[in-house]
This record gives sequence, structure tokens and C-alpha cells, in this order.
Amino acid sequence: MTATLLDGKALARKLQSELTAEVAEFIENNSVSPTLAVVLVGENPASEVYVRNKRAACERVGIESRLVRLPADTSQDELLKQLSKLNKDEDVHGILVQLPLPPQIEVAKIVQAVSPAKDVDAFHPENVGRIVQGRPRFLPCTPQGVRALLASAGIEPAGKQVVILGRSEIVGKPLALLLMQKGAGGDATVTVCHSRSQNLAEITRQADILVAAVGQPRLVTADMVKPGATVVDVGTNQTPEGLVGDVDFAAVNEVAGYLSPVPGGVGPLTITMLLQNTLEAARQQQTS
Ligand code: NAP
Repeated sequence: MTATLLDGKALARKLQSELTAEVAEFIENNSVSPTLAVVLVGENPASEVYVRNKRAACERVGIESRLVRLPADTSQDELLKQLSKLNKDEDVHGILVQLPLPPQIEVAKIVQAVSPAKDVDAFHPENVGRIVQGRPRFLPCTPQGVRALLASAGIEPAGKQVVILGRSEIVGKPLALLLMQKGAGGDATVTVCHSRSQNLAEITRQADILVAAVGQPRLVTADMVKPGATVVDVGTNQTPEGLVGDVDFAAVNEVAGYLSPVPGGVGPLTITMLLQNTLEAARQQQTS
């Protein structure tokens, strides 16, 4: 028996087609185009691809995108000035600063400088705090993508043992918060592992739902997975054989009940959630 594929690409297509109608309705009712400003500092080739994909997705659903491109030697003050301008610009509803940033810029300072009302990545401390308290302004994109993928297959986290590999601010921590939250899409018993965790396989074998967000090619092997478990692979690793996840797909496919591929799993949903947040930001700014 092989696992049922959690097809993120197909789900993203469906959600984006629904979003296209919602964006059109918003524009019709408000005569305002939801607009995302994407700030790109330097010329990191991976960032160039991510930004291109995000802007293409905006265009597909009718969201306007604006690219603010700055040279690699941009100072922190200059970037802060640009963000202050975007914060004040009423035609911009969402702001995304593509990470990583060059070494002269402190990420925490930049994350805090984006207006929480336009922080569609949900990285600002105020928005993270709201997630902790269970009253989010925006849902973090990759974690919400993971939840959407589970929901689409009818996998309800409530009461399940979830093990998350990775404790980053972008994936592991916010995903743990969403899945342990009281209510729909939450109510799971969550364990978070990291590089100092001992006896990883023993812990992961307890998981009904195992999420890998580590950034190490094929770290999750078949012996780490309980038969029939759901395995979601967030990892994206460039290797000589191409893009691979954190899960040994071929081997785990023989053991798991559900498995997400890389590419075509969580990635397309992360972008879709960014689009949803941009529309949500525009809605909130119309009513505030
Ligand atoms: P990150 O900030 O580098 O965090 C990696 C986490 O994995 C850290 O918590 C680290 O532990 C932990 N870790 C490292 N080695 C480990 C090991 N051997 N066993 C257990 N835990 C280990 O990475 P990230 O930003 O969360 O991203 C993780 C992966 O997801 C990357 O491949 C990234 O490209 C991908 N990603 C994909 C999407 C998408 O949309 N598909 C979005 C975001 C990220 P310590 O905390 O102890 O260092």
C-alpha cells in the first residue's frame, strides 16, 4: 500500500480560483484593488524566484503587486525609510519583506517596522502575540498552508499526536501554536523537536501527524514513521538531483497513510495564504 498524496498544487489551484472571485467582488464593491508591496533587497537567486512566483500568483487572482527593489548595500535606515513610506501609503494593503536580508540589516528591526495592519506574513511581534492568544489578525502563511492541506484530506488534528520537526519563527513555532489552539483545525497534542532533541525516531514514531520543517534532505526515513501516519513535508532543499524535501519520499510513501510531495505540496499553499492575507488586509483597512 502506498500513501495517499496530499496534492498541494491542486488544492492551491482550487483555492486561488475561489479567491479570484472574492477579489473581483471586493474590487466591485469598494473600487479599491487589494495591493501587495514586495520589498526585495539584493539579488539572491532563490529570493528572485520566490518574489517572481508571489507576484505571478497575485496577478492570477487579480491582486496588484508592487516590487520595491533595493540594492544589496542598502542600509538599515534606508530600508526603514522605505517601509515607513509603504506603511503610510493608503494604496498598499500588504507589505512583504523577502528574507533573507543582507548582513548589515537586522531582521528583527525590519519585522517590527512593518505596520501590523499590513503585515501579511504575520511576523510582527504584535501579530505573533495575537496568534498566541488565539485571536489572529492574519494567519501565518506556511503553517496555515499545512492546516489547509490537512483539512482538504479530511484529516482533523483534534486529539491527535502531532510531532513537528523544527522550531523556527516562520514554520515550527507558529504551526505548533495553530495546531494546539482550542477549536477547529486545532486541539492537537503537539510535540516540537529541534537539533538538540534526543531519540528523534522514538518521538516521531508516536506521531499521527508528522510535519518536517528542518531543511535537511531526506532526514525523515521510513523507520521514523508510524504505519498509516500523515506526513507533511515542508522542507525545500536544493540538491544536485533537484528540489527535495526533508522526507525520504520513496521509502516513507510505503509506510505513511498520507504524504505531501516536494515540490507540489506545502509550497503552493504558502503563496495562496499570502494572497488570502492580502485580501483580508484590504478588507480590514476598508472597515477601519
Ligand atoms: P530554519 O529556520 O533553518 O529552522 C530549522 C529547524 O530545524 C530549527 O529549529 C533546527 O533546530 C531544526 N533542525 C535542524 N537540524 C535538525 C535535526 N537534525 N533534527 C531535528 N531538528 C533539526 O528553517 P525554516 O525556515 O523553518 O525552514 C525549514 C525548511 O522548510 C527549509 O527547507 C525551508 O526551505 C522550508 N520552507 C518551506 C516553505 C514552503 O512554503 N514550502 C516555507 C518556509 C520554509 P535548532 O532550532 O535547534 O537550530
